[in-house]
Amino acid sequence: MVKKLLVPIGLAAVFFLESCTVFRPLPPTPPPSASALPPPEAPIPPSRPPTPPLPETPEVPPHARIFSDFVGVIVRPGDTFSSLASEYLKDPSKDWFISEFNGITSLNPGQELVIPLQPYAKGGLTFQGLQTIPVLTYHKFSKNESDRMTVRESSFEAQMKFLRENGYRVITLEEFFNFLDFKGQLPKKSVVITIDEEWHSAYEIALPILEKYGYPATFFAYTDFITSKGWDLIREMSRRGIDVQCHTRTHRNLGKRMVNEPFREYFEAIKRELTESAQMIQKHLNKEVKYLAYPYGDTNHLVVALLRKLGYRGALTVHREGNPFFVDPYRIHRSMIYGNFDLQEFAKNLAYFEEQALR
Ligand SMILES: [Zn+2]
Repeated sequence: MVKKLLVPIGLAAVFFLESCTVFRPLPPTPPPSASALPPPEAPIPPSRPPTPPLPETPEVPPHARIFSDFVGVIVRPGDTFSSLASEYLKDPSKDWFISEFNGITSLNPGQELVIPLQPYAKGGLTFQGLQTIPVLTYHKFSKNESDRMTVRESSFEAQMKFLRENGYRVITLEEFFNFLDFKGQLPKKSVVITIDEEWHSAYEIALPILEKYGYPATFFAYTDFITSKGWDLIREMSRRGIDVQCHTRTHRNLGKRMVNEPFREYFEAIKRELTESAQMIQKHLNKEVKYLAYPYGDTNHLVVALLRKLGYRGALTVHREGNPFFVDPYRIHRSMIYGNFDLQEFAKNLAYFEEQALR
């Protein structure tokens, strides 16, 4: 952990070495003397104004100094990472951006701090290695029972608490895909939560716990399975912040042609799986569908080509592994969380960094 923070701390140290004097009051302007006069051949300038104002003086508060990519501040009483992120980055949720750069988790008045104004680790790349983002997937929840595909309510609650207590940030699927575009960076312990198909227990059990922690999640719907009561609950989940995306129409294995199924029929069938399900979600929820979770995690080149043609931005498998920024967006890795996982087993799916000698 300490090693990973060396780069930002080092940068911050260099910044302070170069700029620490900016926090001190300016020395008084010395009176003009003979030695300060220009050489005789140069024209003598007209009398100087008494103290030229610094260009930033009117806009910048006295505790801060703004550079092109950084702001140096002295922490005031009452400042928090969120309030500073709101003030300088115009986004209070970017508190992590400041704390991770400085390698600190708390603030003290009088403390010197560097606030970066630009991403400093695009794609999660550092000199030590690269960020990997776990995408977790759940299938079904139950109050008291569990089996391989069913997670007990108390276990789900304990897992969400574990994420909070261990500094993980749950991000949206959209934020995750933006990260894959190498445009910005995410909190270094980012994780995505997804739920496949089982709408009733997702609504009854997972939703209240997700809301309690303020965690976003994506629900993948396979549309032939959903009753009209089901659409009511899914609409309610969507209204309460759950992103609803596509898990096909009939849950067929897209990657496999059935025995004796002519190629043309196979092609038309998987096209229908991808289009009609998305249309159904659009009709019921009036929202854009951009992502697909493959039934059984299975796909092939034809399915990926169709997804691209139809305008899907990405698709998710169930290959248990984290995701670096250069992962294939149509083969996103996801880790299935089984009902018999204890917290230790759960934590094995949360690796967020891969050491690499990137030379
Ligand atoms: Zn499924």
